Amino acid sequence: MTVRDYDVIVIGGGNAALCAALTAREAGASVLLLESAPRAWRGGNSQHTRNLRCMHDAPQDVLTEAYPEEEYWQDLRKVTGGLTNETLARLAIRSSANCRDWMRRHGVHFQPSLSGTLQLSRTNAFFLGGGKALVNAYYRSAEKLGVHIRYEAAVDRLELRDDRFVAAYVGSERVEAKACVVASGGFESNREWMREAWGQVNGEWVADNFLIRGTRFNMGVLLKFLIGAGADAIGDPTQSHCVAIDARAPLYDGGICTRVDSVSLGIVVNKDAARFYDEGEDFWPKRYAIWGRLVAQQPGQIAYSVIDAKAIGRFMPPVFPGEKAQTLPELARKLGLDEAALARTVSDYNTACRPGRFDHAALDDCATAGLAPPKTHWARPLDTAPYYAYPLRPGITFTYLGVKVNEQAAVHFAGRPSPNLYAAGEIMAGNVLGKGYTAGVGMTIGTAFGRIAGTQAAAAALNKGEARAAA
Ligand SMILES: Cc1cc2nc3c(=O)[nH]c(=O)nc-3n(C[C@H](O)[C@H](O)[C@H](O)COP(=O)(O)OP(=O)(O)OC[C@H]3O[C@@H](n4cnc5c(N)ncnc54)[C@H](O)[C@@H]3O)c2cc1C
Repeated sequence: MTVRDYDVIVIGGGNAALCAALTAREAGASVLLLESAPRAWRGGNSQHTRNLRCMHDAPQDVLTEAYPEEEYWQDLRKVTGGLTNETLARLAIRSSANCRDWMRRHGVHFQPSLSGTLQLSRTNAFFLGGGKALVNAYYRSAEKLGVHIRYEAAVDRLELRDDRFVAAYVGSERVEAKACVVASGGFESNREWMREAWGQVNGEWVADNFLIRGTRFNMGVLLKFLIGAGADAIGDPTQSHCVAIDARAPLYDGGICTRVDSVSLGIVVNKDAARFYDEGEDFWPKRYAIWGRLVAQQPGQIAYSVIDAKAIGRFMPPVFPGEKAQTLPELARKLGLDEAALARTVSDYNTACRPGRFDHAALDDCATAGLAPPKTHWARPLDTAPYYAYPLRPGITFTYLGVKVNEQAAVHFAGRPSPNLYAAGEIMAGNVLGKGYTAGVGMTIGTAFGRIAGTQAAAAALNKGEARAAA
C-alpha cells in the first residue's frame, strides 16, 4: 500500500522531530510524524531531559546574569577539544537566544534552576515539569495544528533517488512525501551495534555491562540505513555521553535519578577494591561525564563509590539507597569485595590524607600526599561509621555517530546536500559534538536544527526554494 497525502514526513518522536513537525506545519506544509514508540513511551530521550543551554546578553526570565555567544562557543570548543563545526555550532548557539518564545507559544513553561543541580542557573533554562511536560506540550500543539501522528510506526528504510527522498517504509507500507526530516536519535539502544563499536577488552564485551539511561527505541536503524546508502557519516561510534549511574538502574529509561553524585566525597574502587582515578580532580559538574568511561575501562565494568557518615547530606540523594555498614569489612562483604583488599585501600588512602580546610564548594586544600592515583581535593579520611557504598555502571546517554549536514540541515551524500532530506537532533549532533558534553546542549542542537529542518523541508515541499533559517 502507498500513502501519498503529505508534503513532509518527520521520522522520530522526540524534541527534534516535534520541533521540525511544528515548524513545517507552521510554514503551511501538511505533515505526518512517524514515532516508533507506543504513545505511552513517546518522546525518546527528550522525555528525560530537564533543561536547555541558552545564550543571553543580560538576565532573562529564568536565567541569571549573562551568557554571551562567545563564552558558550568557548565552552563548546573546550569540551569537544575542537571536534566541532564552528559554523553549525554558532548557528545552534544563536538560535538558543530566541527559541524560548517560540517554545512558550507551543506550551512549554520554564522555571528557575533547582538548587542542588549542577549550578546551572546562569546558563540553562529548566522546563517546568521536565522533558515529559515539554514533549506532551509539543504533541498537544502539533495535534491542534493538524500534524498527523502515528505511534508504533517504526520506519525500516527509505527510498532514495539520486540523493533525493522519495518514500519511507513502515514494514510493507510505503509512505511518499515531497520532503523528509529524519530525527530518529542515535543508536545507543542497539546493544549489538554498541557491542561491535566498543569491542572486547581482556576477553570481555565491554558494552554488555552498559545501561541505557534513556529510551529503548533509539536503535539507529535509519542512521545505519543512511550511512549504507551513501550519506556522509560524522563522528566516532565509541564516542557518547556516558556517566556513572547506579548499577541497580533498569536497562532502559532509568533517567536522571539513577546518577550517583557522591564520587568526589569519598573514594571509588573497582572489583579488586583498588582505586583507579582522582575522585577530587575538579568540581563534580565538570567531571561527572568522564566517570562512565572510567568505569567502562575497569574489569567487569563495575565500580563502587565508598563514603562515610561525613558525606551524608552533601550530595543529591540517588534513587537507590546505598549499602550501609557499621564497619568496612561488613561493607566489603555486602558488596562482594575482598575484605582485606578494601581495608588496605582505605588505610592507604586515610594515611595519605593531609590536614586541610574542607570546603566542598571550593577547590580546597584537602589532598592526599604520596598516593597513586592522588585525590587532589576534598580528601578526608574514611573513618566515621556508618559507611555507605553505591555500585556504579556506565550509563549511556546518547551516541555521537551521525550524518553530516549543512546550515540548512540537509543530509550530505558524497559532499553534496540532498535537495529534500534533512536531519535533526541526535542523528546529526556529532556535527557539533565530536566528543565531550556541556549540560543542556543536546536540547539546544535538537531545537535549533529541528526548526531549521522543518523550515527547509516545508520550503522544499512547497517549492519555495531555499528558506531562511527559522528565526
Ligand atoms: C536521562 C537523560 C537526561 C538528559 N538530560 C538532558 C538535559 O537536561 N538537557 C539536554 O540538553 N539534553 C539532555 N539529554 C540529552 C537529550 O535527551 C538529547 O540530546 C535530545 O533529547 C535529543 O533529541 P532527539 O529528538 O534527537 O532524540 P530523542 O528524543 O531520543 O528522539 C528520537 C525519537 O526517534 C524515535 N525513533 C527511533 N528510531 C525510529 C524509527 N526507525 N522510526 C520512527 N521513529 C524512530 C524514537 O522512538 C524517539 O521518539 C538527556 C538524555 C537522557 C537520556
